[in-house]
Amino acid sequence: MNADATYIGRFAPSPSGPLHFGSLLAALASFLDARANKGQWLLRMEDLDPAREPPEAADQILRCLEQFSLHWDDEVLYQSHRFEAYAEALDRLREKGLIYACDCTRQQIQAMGGVYDNRCRHRKDQVIGGALRVQTQNIQVSFDDRIQGEQSQDLLYECGDFVLVRKDGLFAYQLAVVVDDAFQQITDVVRGFDLIESTPRQIYLQQCLAYPLPRYAHIPVVVNNEGQKLSKQHFADAVNPRQASELLLKALHFLGQNPDPALAGANSSELLAWGIAHWDIQAVPKLANIRHESV
Ligand code: GLU
Repeated sequence: MNADATYIGRFAPSPSGPLHFGSLLAALASFLDARANKGQWLLRMEDLDPAREPPEAADQILRCLEQFSLHWDDEVLYQSHRFEAYAEALDRLREKGLIYACDCTRQQIQAMGGVYDNRCRHRKDQVIGGALRVQTQNIQVSFDDRIQGEQSQDLLYECGDFVLVRKDGLFAYQLAVVVDDAFQQITDVVRGFDLIESTPRQIYLQQCLAYPLPRYAHIPVVVNNEGQKLSKQHFADAVNPRQASELLLKALHFLGQNPDPALAGANSSELLAWGIAHWDIQAVPKLANIRHESV
């Protein structure tokens, strides 16, 4: 990439608990890629779902990032303050005739084989109290992931019309992420592989809303011995800032960066400086996941 070109990256945690090793990796990879490209690194708190967010978690995450010397640019953007922008984007899609209500249950969708068959699209009766979905088209959405290579999804058949406003009235991640990536002028998204199959939905929305398309890079997700993603649901341990050096070194290994053995004993700023100077995104393993124990 041309180092003079504007680069704006971001880390966008959901504050459903403290940072664990998996989220530290996404933070580190997006930070190193931004800094190695002389770019900005922004922080966005994806606090869309208060019922799943302990009130202290967002601040805990910010303090923890600081203790790892992962310093961000500008003010933190909170999705909980952005509802007007999401409503506006939704209106634009509605004006294009792309939005409809759907009250199908999880069980009904399971019975459709797990992919929604768009059955409420053409309903004549009024749906009360359902979710709002956006109509997809019979198109192949493709993108060239900077780590994982060429990706393609048949949006209509592999995904179906998808939810932008949930039944409980909350804006869905897919809408908020697209509106905010555009608002923050993000040029590069670096995040976990678990979101790679959401990317075609996001590209489709960017096209519908005439937003610029960022580049994408998906890093492997850390899984435990049972193959489960490290997450609050699977009781992943919070990272301990007192072990910042050790964890950053481990994270650099995990990202395939082959840290210099002379870095043993270095502090977080020194490790990050080394990481920026030697960052090679092509060395990140082209894998969906890696076991925590193997690094
Ligand atoms: N908030 C999402 C998460 O914590 C990440 C969203 C993104 O990077 O697009 O999993």
